[in-house]
Amino acid sequence: MGTFTKVLLTAACVAFLAVKWTAPRFDSESLRGARVLVTGASTGIGEQMAYHYARFGAQVVITARREKVLQKVAEKCLSLGAQKALYIAADMASESDPDKAVDFALEKLGGLDYLVLNHIGPSPFSMWEGDVEHTRWLMKVNFLSYTQMAWRALASLEQSKGALVVVSSLLGKMPSPFVAPYTSTKFALNGFFGALYHELAMKKSNVSISICTLGLIDTQSAMEKVRAVTNLPAYPATDAALNIIITGATRQPELFYPWFTHIVTLSKDWFPSITDYIMQNSYNYIP
Ligand code: NDP
Repeated sequence: MGTFTKVLLTAACVAFLAVKWTAPRFDSESLRGARVLVTGASTGIGEQMAYHYARFGAQVVITARREKVLQKVAEKCLSLGAQKALYIAADMASESDPDKAVDFALEKLGGLDYLVLNHIGPSPFSMWEGDVEHTRWLMKVNFLSYTQMAWRALASLEQSKGALVVVSSLLGKMPSPFVAPYTSTKFALNGFFGALYHELAMKKSNVSISICTLGLIDTQSAMEKVRAVTNLPAYPATDAALNIIITGATRQPELFYPWFTHIVTLSKDWFPSITDYIMQNSYNYIP
């Protein structure tokens, strides 16, 4: 092995250990009794987050549109150890439901320690054919409702030294074919909450913001969309959910899950042509 390679490997190991040692430690006890609102918690990653919070003994309010499904998730949360598990049906495309969901959680739990914004509206996985109305609707669900709920909960989070957790996507950092409206909503989230992160820091606010960048996760809705067009590996929703919770609890500004999504986002800027080539050729698409 040449000297240059040895130096490079040593530097990589030192960097890895430095990151590991300086990473804040997660204490699951900190979540016992924590007052949490999780959106989009009837299925997928949100449902798994509700179960993890429940196992940690938190007080959970979950929301999504389907009341019957929420009821079942809440029952399971109680059986797993949640101190409280309540639900409220809310449609995040509506003007008033985002506020209604936050107000419900504030009232029932007496405040909030964590607001976990995770919901997304269903969106087709296909070439964009000019459906502006769908894009407008999706912006309301996936983006505007996040800003509305964050604002509604901010005063309580400030009081409790709480955390705002935003579930975003690799596609919020790197545009991808077939999901133009979805990608746009995630870029909007990253921009908005990235700006708010600076503003809160400048105001010396007590509230932390964590923006979570996820790669492909094996939820039913995601798998139904992508399996016909790509063989990319998908990562487990329960593990993604746990990583999001730890990121919020340790007040880290960013999560990349799985870890290599971080490298992928960097490669877009460092090697744009190669990244574009891979992006356009990783789908089974015949024009
Ligand atoms: P799912 O499609 O499994 O779940 C979406 C949730 O949002 C459901 O609980 C759904 O419940 C709720 N929802 C849908 N429409 C509305 C609405 N109008 N108002 C209120 N709630 C609504 O999503 P995932 O678990 O796959 O994704 C969770 C998060 O992770 C999202 O932010 C997504 O962008 C992100 N992510 C996921 C990836 C993946 O591969 N799965 C990859 C990258 C990021 P209901 O139908 O009852 O309303």
